[in-house]
Amino acid sequence: MNTTKLTLLCKASTLLASGALLLALANGCSSTKPAQCPAPWPAARLLPPNQPDPNWLDHDRDRPQPPVVTPATASTQAEPGKPPSDAVVLFDGKDISQWCSMDGSPTKWITRDGYMECVRGSGYVRTLQNFGDCQLHVEWATPVPPHGEGQGRGNSGVFLGLDRYEVQVLDSYHAKTYADGSAGAIYGQYPPLVNVCRPPGEWQTYDIIYTAPRFDSDRKLVSPARETVFQNGVLIQNNVTLTGPTSWLERAPYQPHPEKQPISLQDHGNPVRFRNIWVRELGKPGKKEFTLPNTLLDSYVGKYGSVDITREGDQLVARVGGVRFLLFAESPTKFFAKTTDVQIEFPGGDHAKPERLIWSVGEGANEAKRGK
Ligand code: MG
Repeated sequence: MNTTKLTLLCKASTLLASGALLLALANGCSSTKPAQCPAPWPAARLLPPNQPDPNWLDHDRDRPQPPVVTPATASTQAEPGKPPSDAVVLFDGKDISQWCSMDGSPTKWITRDGYMECVRGSGYVRTLQNFGDCQLHVEWATPVPPHGEGQGRGNSGVFLGLDRYEVQVLDSYHAKTYADGSAGAIYGQYPPLVNVCRPPGEWQTYDIIYTAPRFDSDRKLVSPARETVFQNGVLIQNNVTLTGPTSWLERAPYQPHPEKQPISLQDHGNPVRFRNIWVRELGKPGKKEFTLPNTLLDSYVGKYGSVDITREGDQLVARVGGVRFLLFAESPTKFFAKTTDVQIEFPGGDHAKPERLIWSVGEGANEAKRGK
């Protein structure tokens, strides 16, 4: 229980105990300070059940103020705008270091004149960092003069959840394809509400609000992915519920995955351009998470004293005292678990097979050498 909640409960319980609650409420009072705080009352006994947040009274003076953020500035065709002050900048027009190929190797997409451009056959690009619930801003332009028809005309895509959930990028300006595959579609599931496309070659914006799907410890779906999308400032997807990963020809079912995953951009064989990409995380505050190349993860696999490191998919797993912990990367050499405060570091790692690790559970630090 946080300090503010405890204070609140103390206030209310003291007022109740003194029989002064009604009088205090009648006077609009919520700041009476108790001389002595009895054991806190359950919040449900004090606040109406329809309270939007059971931690706070209406107009509670102790409720924290929202953080101050400098807003984004609008882009023009000539110049990209500035991201809001609390955004993670993923691409500023020059630095592509936040992106890599899907296997973690350097991407072959090119960067020039303030944009990055898909190179046919080079594969998707993905972010190094993982993101769950977020607000994502992406600007894109399809080739001019346009080439091809239907799905072959300026095709790319913005994916959340690594490569699972695509918002279609396509030249849909006076160009027809199946509705659930046109620009702004949640591919194969939901056409955009309207076609608000600009001509090929012009910069267009997507502002995507993404809620990641949740899975329980039995790997069952708890809540599906949802997306809201604005294209060029116009709402085109209104909090739609995804049926599963977006896919061609089939209705693919959900497969469990960690909440935070990389964001990726599609190579569909067309030289689509991107600029001014930024993201704001909306989930609970926490450590940054990254998806590391499997080749690097494999260099950490081994037995280090009582700690056993293996790889499952694109994550490391630690067995400490025989208990299994799924590890998340906060840097190329540092990992943490989410169920218990387990931290593991491979000093001198990052592309060199380390001979030891440092591990801790809740406190201290222990060194363990790699077994022969
Ligand atoms: Mg696509």
